[in-house]
Amino acid sequence: MRVTRSVSPTVRYLIVGAIGIVLAVFVMQVLNRQAHEMAVARIERRTEQVTVSVQQSIESTLHVLESFQALYATSLNVDRKSFDTFALQMLWTHPEALRIQWVPYVVAGERADFEAAGREDYAPDFQIVERDDDGAVVRAAERDAYFPIYFRAPMDNPEGVVGMDLGADEARYAMLLDIARRGTVAASPPTRFGTDEPYTIYIYQPIYAQSPQPATDSERLDALRGFVILVLQASDFFAFAFNRVDIPGMAVAIHDADVPDVTLFETAPADMRESAFGACSSTESVVVAGRTWDLMFVVSEEGLWAEAQNSGLLGFLIVLSITVMLVLYLRQRTQAEAALHKYTRSLEEVNSELLAFNHTIAHDLKSPLAIIVGYADLLQDENLTSNGRRMLSMIPKMVDALLEMIEDLLKLAILRDAKAKVEKVDVNAVVQRTLERFGDSRDSIVIEGDLPPAMGHPQWMTEVFANLISNALKYRDDQRDLRIYIRAKPEGDRVRYEVEDNGLGIAPEDKARIFALFTRPNSSDERGLGIGLSIVQRMVTKLGGHLGVESELGKGSTFWFTLPKG
Ligand code: ADP
Repeated sequence: MRVTRSVSPTVRYLIVGAIGIVLAVFVMQVLNRQAHEMAVARIERRTEQVTVSVQQSIESTLHVLESFQALYATSLNVDRKSFDTFALQMLWTHPEALRIQWVPYVVAGERADFEAAGREDYAPDFQIVERDDDGAVVRAAERDAYFPIYFRAPMDNPEGVVGMDLGADEARYAMLLDIARRGTVAASPPTRFGTDEPYTIYIYQPIYAQSPQPATDSERLDALRGFVILVLQASDFFAFAFNRVDIPGMAVAIHDADVPDVTLFETAPADMRESAFGACSSTESVVVAGRTWDLMFVVSEEGLWAEAQNSGLLGFLIVLSITVMLVLYLRQRTQAEAALHKYTRSLEEVNSELLAFNHTIAHDLKSPLAIIVGYADLLQDENLTSNGRRMLSMIPKMVDALLEMIEDLLKLAILRDAKAKVEKVDVNAVVQRTLERFGDSRDSIVIEGDLPPAMGHPQWMTEVFANLISNALKYRDDQRDLRIYIRAKPEGDRVRYEVEDNGLGIAPEDKARIFALFTRPNSSDERGLGIGLSIVQRMVTKLGGHLGVESELGKGSTFWFTLPKG
């Protein structure tokens, strides 16, 4: 406390403000870091969900090939018209697929029959063809087997395509035989026919003469009848798969795991991904038809913050507001403290003036009063008329009343700071001593039974009894003879002393007021100043007791006080 008081308020506000700002920044950073981590975790979960969804989308496209497998299981002799109808139907429900082709497996001995059938289905010059070194379409060279494109839906740009032998390329020839032997759907690596062309992926479904397909590699090759090939335009296909999933604030790129240089699909170009993006990245893989496609997700800083939802800023603002409120509170408290300090000082000044005033009354007022009484005594001896003598006799009485009031005021002032030395008091003796003060009036006072001892202060208790008795005498009812009873009753670990009279009594609404200083129900009443009960109250309270009254107007009052048992 002492330290803060020596620091000026402005410096105090500055210190609190600075601590608040530092704390706010710290809270912001902690919350930001936490939000960041949570956002990254959320994004990773999202990319996993997206990957699963993409995988499902691709698998659902591959159902097209299962449908063809079922078609060929019912009959191997699917003609051009049936194939087209079936394939177009499939493409209509799967807009993500570009084309479906039928490529029969034609061994050397079947070539002539196959070409004859082709001339029926297409043109009189139909034959199995290939491209020579110059790119020109020529009749396919003799070899063990051919894989000519035969049906094709939709049949756009058929020139030089129908009859084209896919087996003309040695590598592809080997690949097709390999797929046939393995007997599973297989996807090709991305291929394109010119640098301006988009990348295409072929998915091969081998069709066998037997259903279910034979069990061993060589049996499968023997039973091979051809391939249904699903042609996919890579970027369109993956765009379709991603269209169905919501990935705001994220960029995605897809690569074939074996051909990482080729980007199959991307939502933002690589250079943009690396500069603007790159706050957080993760790679997931999709394995379909024997190929692995890597999905690389990159999240932009903004995307990440959108996820983080600015909780750090919120925390900063909250702590900052608390700081501002604290500073305002401190300022207000300092001002209140200063006002209180000022008020206390002025009260202290008033109080010391009052003490000085008391002192003056005690010492200075008493002596002129004594002189007045002295002169009045001397005047008694002078030759005065009887009227003069009567008036003169009033002076000492009035002076006595005045002195009594001054005494009371002084007692009250002294009592304020006085501390009672509590001791066991013989109350019977105290009351007897008190009664001595009342001369003839004693006759109307009755002490009922024994008054047990109490823990108190003999002088103060004498004052208490004297005050209560003198009030009973003052506020008597002239209609009847005054009777005052003094008695005591045990009350747990206390004794309750009572002074009962049959005087004027007190109205219920006045009961609470009479104990307040200078308060008299009847302010024109000249019998007192309203100090006595305040003195009694202070004394009893300081001795650890309680003071109270029971009264009925016109019947009398019982003033009581309690004290710890002696
Ligand atoms: P005062 O100097 O006026 O007697 P007190 O504080 O002793 O001051 O009393 C306050 C007021 O309580 C008195 O003015 C009077 O109206 C009332 N009072 C006190 N004692 C009695 C009593 N025994 N009977 C009736 N009224 C009383």
